[in-house]
Amino acid sequence: MTTSALAINGGSKALTNDPGDIFTWPIVTEEDESAVLEVLRRGGMSGTDVTKLFEEDFSAWMGTEFALGYPNGTESLRAAMWACGVGAGDEIICPSLTYWASATPALSLGAAVHFADAHPDSLCIDPADIEHRIGPRTKAIVVVHYAGHPGDMDAIMPIAKRHGVKVIEDVSHAQGSLYKGRMCGTIGDVGAMSLMAGKSLAIGEAGILVTDNREIYERCVAYGHYERTGARSQYNPPDQQVTDTSLQQFSGMPMGGYKHRMHQLSSAMGRVQLRHYPERIVEIQKAMNRFWDLLEDVPGITAHRPAAGSGSTMGGWYFARGLYRAEELGGLTNATFAEAVRAEGVGACGTGANAPLHTHNVFHYADLFGTGKPTMVSFTDRDVRQGPGTLPVSENSGQTIVGVPWFKHDRPEIIEQYAAAYRKVAEHADELKA
Ligand SMILES: *Cc1c(COP(=O)(O)O)cnc(C)c1O
Repeated sequence: MTTSALAINGGSKALTNDPGDIFTWPIVTEEDESAVLEVLRRGGMSGTDVTKLFEEDFSAWMGTEFALGYPNGTESLRAAMWACGVGAGDEIICPSLTYWASATPALSLGAAVHFADAHPDSLCIDPADIEHRIGPRTKAIVVVHYAGHPGDMDAIMPIAKRHGVKVIEDVSHAQGSLYKGRMCGTIGDVGAMSLMAGKSLAIGEAGILVTDNREIYERCVAYGHYERTGARSQYNPPDQQVTDTSLQQFSGMPMGGYKHRMHQLSSAMGRVQLRHYPERIVEIQKAMNRFWDLLEDVPGITAHRPAAGSGSTMGGWYFARGLYRAEELGGLTNATFAEAVRAEGVGACGTGANAPLHTHNVFHYADLFGTGKPTMVSFTDRDVRQGPGTLPVSENSGQTIVGVPWFKHDRPEIIEQYAAAYRKVAEHADELKA
């Protein structure tokens, strides 16, 4: 009988410690509970008083002039796109490697999505794959700070400026991430994001939008926040957040037809979570950096994080991933590597990330407007649909991206065991090839 180091081949497991609550998220205390109960007991769920306080807290934290709450991140992105002028026959540029909500709102506006590839190290939109996609009807570039990693804003902003195109930051993975010392979401024209229960800033089904641009802000208010255009409402006092008279005429109705009021149980939880968030993500960053520092010299797996000393950070490190490099392990597949890591006791080691969007049928065939043509070409002669083989980094993510634990506390004795599991599999990769 041959002896093997790897648990998958009968060796002992790398993990022996109980992880305890190291992965538990969000951290909910009595402070959250009493804030939510206060709203619940007075029946304030459909008000806007707590939401407005949350918006004030949020814009103060982000350092933006405006913040606007949403029932989810998808709606904040839809409003951001419309406010940036995306309409029928227009185009947006969006990475293919992201969650669908970064892109699909454009279809609902009658616009097409011209997908760009991801950069293999940052996993964010590749700045070198943007400019040649810009056409006469391109209105916005969506930058997703993917899995917490800031996109390359210094490369992207000048391209957008040169072509008069707006930049929408999707911050759903990156609340609190810094790009060279600046908050992600405050660098482009508008930042929009999810705050749903699975995200790093997790407050329920919710979203928020931030901007310094009054025109964008007012357009977002008029689009779906019908009570905030000077209207009298059943639930909330009259409001005068819109100064643009061309928008004021729609007072009392959402001109987009959408209702974008945020649920106040989420706003209440949001205020409490936000108070603790900056300190909690510093702890996450310490833990995750500890894990990756332990794997610095290990072949086959590389940290997904900005260079130390760059002033950029991973925020709350949402959807923690590693970069898998099979060629450094003699071609060992990502799937086999991950299976062996799981056998060491690491529960959540999966492969890949979001499936590429550009090959999905919605972006090829869905006809939302009943024109008899797919929405992508309903209002335009320019067909920007792309088939398989066009965006290789996004299409190959199943081979090049591997899951890693998302630690919420910096507990060295536990983190060291997780790192040892990855190290062990990489260092014994030759046992897995047969
Ligand atoms: C979660 C997510 C969204 C959508 O937000 P919801 O709150 O689920 O509507 C948008 N973009 C990205 C990148 C996301 O991960």
